[in-house]
Amino acid sequence: LLQLDGVAKSFRSADGAPRPVLENIDFSLAEGEIVALLGKSGSGKSTLLRIMAGLLAADAGTASYRGAAVRGPVPGIAMVFQSFALFPWLTVQQNVELGLEAQGMPPRERDGRSGAMLELMGLAGFGGALPRELSGGMRQRVGIARALVTNPDVLLMDEAFSALDVLTGETLRDDILDLWNSHQIPTKGMLIVSHNIEEAVMMADRIIILSSAPGRIRNEIRISLQRPRSADAAEVRALVD
Ligand code: ATP
Ligand code: MG
Repeated sequence: LLQLDGVAKSFRSADGAPRPVLENIDFSLAEGEIVALLGKSGSGKSTLLRIMAGLLAADAGTASYRGAAVRGPVPGIAMVFQSFALFPWLTVQQNVELGLEAQGMPPRERDGRSGAMLELMGLAGFGGALPRELSGGMRQRVGIARALVTNPDVLLMDEAFSALDVLTGETLRDDILDLWNSHQIPTKGMLIVSHNIEEAVMMADRIIILSSAPGRIRNEIRISLQRPRSADAAEVRALVD
């Protein structure tokens, strides 16, 4: 579905010198896979996701989706943000329908699609509410509904549950996994960024660790996890530097 070949990215530091954040990243996400991306704060996880989503251009290498280079936001790829990133002045339904509106879908059809997605996310009856009237968990459900409403193949989740309290986050995570396992969402592959190793072990088929070595050169360590994932967390934790 998704592929990165030799992707590199630097940002300028305060003194103007380029500071490499990602170096020579090769990665692919296959159909049917959930991959978790772990790494210390600042290791470049969000940068990697933004490159995959077409929100940020790589300095070198290519990101591709179904074999075509990603040069900007692609309809098949949707992203969910830690901070929800909802428009506060729009209702829940309007937030969810943004992507459909951008596609030029007529209002009646949009209503049907957003209504069905809100129901799937447990938000039936909340379409007219403003984001501030909802709890954090519900707001992130809106964020996920907005991402999924256009039927993307790929869902990128950047710490989607970490702004929520533990119980709310776990409930939402389990709901997403249920929808995925029962094929009630169109998504064919997910890449999730997390600080929570248990969460990664619980959700992912494969875990990739971005290391923060001196010189900011990144390595990838791939681990295959068999289900059930009983005692894998300790093993994974030892590999996150
Ligand atoms: P966290 O776990 O804290 O979310 P992360 O692994 O997602 O961290 P990134 O947000 O990708 O890390 O950032 C990697 C590095 O790149 C950091 O040092 C950050 O300061 C820097 N960086 C990210 N975005 C920019 C930007 N737009 N301009 C300059 N530096 C940036
Ligand atoms: Mg981040």
